Amino acid sequence: MNTASAQLNEAVATVKLLIDGRFVESAAGEWQDVVNPATQKVLARVPFATDAEIAAAVASAKAAFKTWKNTPLAARARIMLRLQALVRENMGRIAKTLTAEQGKTLADAEGDVFRGLEVVEHACSIGTLQLGEFAENVAGGVDTYTIRQPIGVCAGITPFNFPAMIPLWMFPMAIVCGNTFVLKPSEQDPLTPMLLAELALEAGVPPGVLNIIHGGKRAVDAICTHPDIAAVSFVGSTAVGTHVYQLTSQHGKRVQSMMGAKNHAVVMPDANKEQSLNAIVGATFGAAGQRCMATSVTVLVGETKRWIPDIVAKAKTLKVNAGTEAGTDLGPVISKNAKNRILGLIDDGIKEGAKLELDGRALKVGGYEQGNFIGPTIFSGVKPNMKIYTTEIFGPVMVIITVDSLDQAIRLTNDNPFCNGTGIFTQSGAAARKFQNEIDVGQIGINVPIPVPVPIFSFTGSRGSKLGDLGPYGKQVVQFYTQTKTVTTRWFDDAATTGGVNTTISLK
Ligand code: NAD
Repeated sequence: MNTASAQLNEAVATVKLLIDGRFVESAAGEWQDVVNPATQKVLARVPFATDAEIAAAVASAKAAFKTWKNTPLAARARIMLRLQALVRENMGRIAKTLTAEQGKTLADAEGDVFRGLEVVEHACSIGTLQLGEFAENVAGGVDTYTIRQPIGVCAGITPFNFPAMIPLWMFPMAIVCGNTFVLKPSEQDPLTPMLLAELALEAGVPPGVLNIIHGGKRAVDAICTHPDIAAVSFVGSTAVGTHVYQLTSQHGKRVQSMMGAKNHAVVMPDANKEQSLNAIVGATFGAAGQRCMATSVTVLVGETKRWIPDIVAKAKTLKVNAGTEAGTDLGPVISKNAKNRILGLIDDGIKEGAKLELDGRALKVGGYEQGNFIGPTIFSGVKPNMKIYTTEIFGPVMVIITVDSLDQAIRLTNDNPFCNGTGIFTQSGAAARKFQNEIDVGQIGINVPIPVPVPIFSFTGSRGSKLGDLGPYGKQVVQFYTQTKTVTTRWFDDAATTGGVNTTISLK
């Protein structure tokens, strides 16, 4: 097998492009280092693909579509079955690469791979997922049926925070529906997606069906405007996602944009205190807060405002270290730039008068002094107009707001434009039902801190966290990656001679 990814132990290897079934060296003039966020070791150099390379990837996908679209459903499903087995077998290797380039703990890296693997498992059911519908006798002797056909070359643009899960949200479902695909992974951690691509080829994905290019804004804009790309799936920040959505829409393509978040966890006075606080602290600081479904705002209702010292005490027990070290709860943030941005937002919180209950800014990790570490940081006394509340921090920072009632908590959450997920912690069915009914957020957890739906459902972030109607996996994505044809049929009996010319619109 042809090797895609740079080997971690080599001095500075290069990340390859995947074009037409081959891993190729880029002729790019612009390259970026892929850096281990715990050690600053340069793991590899990633190219910013040239315009010609991007065009070649799309041309390969376009050519492959001609035959791939008519590949039998079961043949496509069998490739997914092999891919799921290969991802499972290589889980440890993928997680090790993921931790090296992204920083999350090994256990969490395996979780990242596993949540993507679940989508591959779901893709194996494409036989039933892609079924059309049939209605007999919609008029006399007339039947109508629908068929779901692939739409052509699709593309995916992915963020740094889930380098396994999010590529696996995209290309398996797109190609199992009969499309071909061009993936543009995050330039900050491209080694993990390249390992997945190696496994996809080993599983039998034919040349041209999956292509990978690397780069930044230029590559993204080329994808959004390319006349031969039919649909674009984007996951990343709100600013970039909005740009991608607008540019892609202007070019007449389908697009879905899953974007930034500020997820609220509402804690009711009747909540199970230990379980709820454990869940919230884990969901806030896990992966150093770099999850789109991380809890970033804790809303304490009524008497639970007295629980702030307990929250701080729990956060203090978390161990910050390199993701490879045993017992680590949270690793470094992705880059020096990300760290400086988060530190700037913490400074803003202090200047705006929020109370810094726990300060993780000065944390040093022995043996990893150069790492991009920030310890768990907690603010109380936060007001809705403060920057630490209005901005997605995407770091290990908890923002606590206190309110008097569930109604106030619901109003606060509904007034925030971000809407990826939210949660309520309560023992009251009535409170939970009211919350579920009145909250205007697409994904809700009831005593569940990170309510990311499993792939038999779809990811349904809403309002300011998503543009486009359909989610990135589940049944919704089968709709996204296919177009429906409706066929209305009548078969004439050779012997029939009755009935004249019908000039009305009605079927008889
Ligand atoms: P990002 O927006 O910086 O990057 C995402 C992708 O866009 C990358 O492939 C990157 O190369 C590309 N890109 C970056 N700048 C660009 C520009 N100016 N023009 C065009 N393309 C550009 O996001 P990130 O920092 O990699 O990821 C973190 C963000 O992703 C957070 O906001 C997080 O909430 C969000 N996210 C959302 C979901 C979700 O499902 N809603 C899931 C994961 C992450």
